[in-house]
Amino acid sequence: MPSVYIKTYGCQMNERDSEAVAAQLVAKGYTLAQSEHVAEVILLNTCSVRDLAEQKALHKMENLAADVRRNRPNVVLGFLGCMAQSRGRELIDRLPNVDLVIGTQKFHRTADYLDDIIAGRRDQVVDVEEEKGSEATLREHLFNGKPADRSVTAFVSIMQGCNQYCTFCIVPYTRGAERSRTITDIVAECRELVGRGAKEITLLGQIVTSYGKRWSSSFSLPGTSPSPDKLKLELQRPGKSAFVQLLEAVNELEGLERIRFTSPHPKGYGDDLVEAYARLPKLCESAHLPLQSGSDRLLKLMHRGYTRERFVGIIEKLRRSKPGIGISTDIIVGFPGETEEDFEQTLSLAREIEFDQAYIFKYSQRRDTPAADMPGQLSTEMKEERNERLLRLVNEIADRNYKKLVGSQTQILVEGLSKKNSARMMGRTRCNKIVVFDGSDRHRSELMDVKITRAGLFTLYGDPAILE
Ligand code: SAM
Repeated sequence: MPSVYIKTYGCQMNERDSEAVAAQLVAKGYTLAQSEHVAEVILLNTCSVRDLAEQKALHKMENLAADVRRNRPNVVLGFLGCMAQSRGRELIDRLPNVDLVIGTQKFHRTADYLDDIIAGRRDQVVDVEEEKGSEATLREHLFNGKPADRSVTAFVSIMQGCNQYCTFCIVPYTRGAERSRTITDIVAECRELVGRGAKEITLLGQIVTSYGKRWSSSFSLPGTSPSPDKLKLELQRPGKSAFVQLLEAVNELEGLERIRFTSPHPKGYGDDLVEAYARLPKLCESAHLPLQSGSDRLLKLMHRGYTRERFVGIIEKLRRSKPGIGISTDIIVGFPGETEEDFEQTLSLAREIEFDQAYIFKYSQRRDTPAADMPGQLSTEMKEERNERLLRLVNEIADRNYKKLVGSQTQILVEGLSKKNSARMMGRTRCNKIVVFDGSDRHRSELMDVKITRAGLFTLYGDPAILE
């Protein structure tokens, strides 16, 4: 069978989708190529959140197509995912050497379409249709290409789509409407992963805190779920969201050590979720709250549904519930009409909250989104300048706070080799901070106490602790 190489752009959802596609292909007999240079099938799993990500994937495919045309005419080229969804056939019109364009609800058809193309039954395939139940079709895991018993952390998709319609965001158009998988189905997948050695599971979705508001039309795989009506009845427990009920169910899994989730919406941090942090021992003390802006005026224009005051209130509650909880965020700089005063409010909120980590994005005009046509689009230079100022502030705060952790003792889950220095190992604290230490592969998958000896930018260095 041919060898396949998948290059992924964008978020963890995309990483997870690629992993599931790769696992499906491996199950069909395909092998995974180490690089695009030796692969017989090259797939780019794309991201549309910002124009830069789209341009990178287009540029990459242009180069691949030129190389394939000249040197390897039998190589199959394909686009998967968000940009494939939003641009569809346009991609083949622009790059006629591309054989395959598969949208976000059709990942599970990749192997069939490749078989057709390789066997010469079809020339080119474009499939960006909606498909009922597609959210329950990506269950396979590759364990990162490592032997199945070696993977420590795993991602599980709990839902697809988004109904928030933030004015800057393309996701509702590329991922479709919200559809949640059932708790039974998700827990079964998590149990299987734990059985294969996973110690930490991250629950994934575009807005995980909206989990269970809109159910999967197919109610997932036959035989693994209760009926829709029974399930809805089960979830009608007053005062407890479906998401918290899912966390409770996953928390029960024997052998699982840690639970994380991403990406939530600040509005979704109700009292039940805040309280779950204090109550569920496996739920890690780490919360991602995408802020986007510190200005109420912009939050309204962005259609975010909360104010600065409410955002601060949620973080205060989380910190009261779990002192020391790691707080990360996403912030957009240069949203249309952002004044210096609006931006100062973002800076002041960053100073007040002291995020442990912040992902800063320069606003990017996205097709079909309301913000793309708003007046007051900012220049690239202005976005760049604000990006740098905010980055400097976030880094200064993180640097100061990471240094305060030197001398402390903390528990990490050892994930594997350090990415920057393969002579060392790395793990994460429950608050989601990376710790690098001198160790060996036998430590992989261990929960280990380390003493923090040094702090770099967003990285801690530790020694396996001699308990004091
Ligand atoms: N759950 C998240 C939320 O509450 O908004 C959504 C995740 S989104 C796919 C990841 C991040 O990309 C967003 O939080 C936002 O900061 C950024 N983003 C989305 N659209 C953008 C755009 N048009 N320009 C720049 N950044 C954008």
